[in-house]
Amino acid sequence: MEKAKIVLKSGKDQSINRYHPWIFSGAIKKIIGNPAEGDIVEVFDNKDTFLAVGHYQPGSIAVRILSFEPVKTDIDFFREKIKSAILYRQSIGLLNNPSINVFRIVHAEGDNLPGLIIDYYDGIAVMQMHSVGMYHLRRDFAAILGEVLGKRIVAVYDKSESTIPYMSGITNVNGFLAGNSGPVIVTENGYKFKVDWTTGQKTGFYIDQRENRKLLQSFTEGRNVLDMFGYTGGFSVYAMKNAALVHTVDSSSSAIELADENVNLNYSDTSRHKSFRIDAFEYLNNIGGKYDLIILDPPAFAKHNNALANALQGYKRLNMKAIEQIKPGGIIFTFSCSQVVTKENFRKSVFAAAANTGRKVRIIHQLSQPPDHPVNIYHPESEYLKGLVLHVE
Ligand code: SAH
Repeated sequence: MEKAKIVLKSGKDQSINRYHPWIFSGAIKKIIGNPAEGDIVEVFDNKDTFLAVGHYQPGSIAVRILSFEPVKTDIDFFREKIKSAILYRQSIGLLNNPSINVFRIVHAEGDNLPGLIIDYYDGIAVMQMHSVGMYHLRRDFAAILGEVLGKRIVAVYDKSESTIPYMSGITNVNGFLAGNSGPVIVTENGYKFKVDWTTGQKTGFYIDQRENRKLLQSFTEGRNVLDMFGYTGGFSVYAMKNAALVHTVDSSSSAIELADENVNLNYSDTSRHKSFRIDAFEYLNNIGGKYDLIILDPPAFAKHNNALANALQGYKRLNMKAIEQIKPGGIIFTFSCSQVVTKENFRKSVFAAAANTGRKVRIIHQLSQPPDHPVNIYHPESEYLKGLVLHVE
């Protein structure tokens, strides 16, 4: 069947010439043919020059580009891309690492596979498709993972139910595409964590904080640590190694249970750890003088641009409460994982928070995401995780 042709308005090919992998619906002059959601389409400028090939999606991001060359996007094409993503992980020491068996195999645009996320949990691959085009290929991806990773793959789970955009006629239900497995206990930098992709947030674990957790540990010795928005207790488990006490706060009771379970998995004496199921803003109303290390790792305050102003206010309020009340000489690890909040905007919010308290604040580290969550240089939006480490006098 002839592929549909997407013809761009004059001048709207600029972002493609800079390899940006998205085409917004506003850039389209006309569509020749009648592409269905998820179909492969070819993109041309208005002088009929080929520009790119990608997945079509009615909506604001109309095409997610797979290649800027006129290639055949068959199973071999995807096999090569996934292979290259895996080889890259191997080259950075993540594939045969005895102390890490949890990492991201495919990071969407960061691996030139827009719309596809694959996370690895000691043998279990959990996939989240963000486009219908990628969703249609899920069984091929499961087969490719088996071919390329061999015995390292025990099962492949599709968790796209909440990430797939509106589709006519497809009702996705999460489930295994290959093999089967209950929750597993993974190892990250030698620490153990229980991962349950069926009930957990995202694909089951916030893998993207691995290196920031490691850095945290270099500050925790002898400190009173407050892990806000703790979820699995990722930061708390690292802090427990040498902190005087660790408090985990989360508003979800299942998160608190999981954090307790993970602390128990790693330490026989957990008397230095306590967790609290309470709203973060409420908890932070009265912590004056209690803590000298605070982690703020909230969920994305803004999912869309129209929520940006409120989100920035939220970051400011949250950081202000922490900066105001932390003990002198205290350290704050503060994060934003909202894609629409830029590094600059996040820093401005934290700056405004600090200015309101009048305390002396140094930025001592600027944090981002680990190398298994690579940033496509042509797609600045893939740099979604931002963090600052503050020293407060
Ligand atoms: N730091 C975690 C990830 C945090 S995810 C890790 O390293 O794994 C964000 C968490 O914030 C979720 O567990 C969610 O339940 C919790 N949360 C969301 N809103 C909250 C609120 N208002 N108060 C407290 N916790 C909240």
